[in-house]
Amino acid sequence: MRVLVVEDDITLNRQLKEALGDAGYVVDTAFDGEEGHFLGDTEPYDAIVLDLGLPQKDGLSVLEHWRRDGRIVPVLILTARDRWSDKVQGIDAGADDYLAKPFHMEELIARIRALVRRAAGQASNELTAGPVRLDVKGGRVTVDGQAVKLTSHELRLLSYLMHHKGKVISRTELTEHLYDQDFDRDSNTIEVFVGRLRKKLPDDLIQTVRGLGYQIGKD
Ligand code: CA
Repeated sequence: MRVLVVEDDITLNRQLKEALGDAGYVVDTAFDGEEGHFLGDTEPYDAIVLDLGLPQKDGLSVLEHWRRDGRIVPVLILTARDRWSDKVQGIDAGADDYLAKPFHMEELIARIRALVRRAAGQASNELTAGPVRLDVKGGRVTVDGQAVKLTSHELRLLSYLMHHKGKVISRTELTEHLYDQDFDRDSNTIEVFVGRLRKKLPDDLIQTVRGLGYQIGKD
């Protein structure tokens, strides 16, 4: 799952990148409204954290542009404390959630997790496929109740496929959602990780749909 952070406060931007990274997300960052607008327009994110007070272009205008252009990515806005009118304007402009500064990082992570989950049509933090269970919050995977150890790359890949259970996901889409903008994208890497997952999980869990991509089927 790939997240964009648009925040001009350099320290907060770094803290957000770190915390989201620790929570298993791939994170791109922007430090002004122009750059954030551009990235949100051109890269496929699973969620965006958008500060409202930004240089070059304010967050509200950025959000309005994205929505006018039909971008439906979940957006959580960061507002100044006690500015209730910012929250109302933000939600009217198409924000899915908001947090007022200062906030606890744990709360932001929980809200992002919920936004990503809801956007994928999942009601719970526990995703299942046959005997496989994935606890999105703790990043734990079990097969028939037995814990399976996955690397962070393997976990991200499994999580993306399980969030989109029943859909065929192309290698390109996986590459775009599992790596940040600086990654040298080579979709062969995906095949390697799928191969490793198949060794650790029931080998019919991830199906190859020839010429199209991969799929975890509905139960
Ligand atoms: Ca700011």
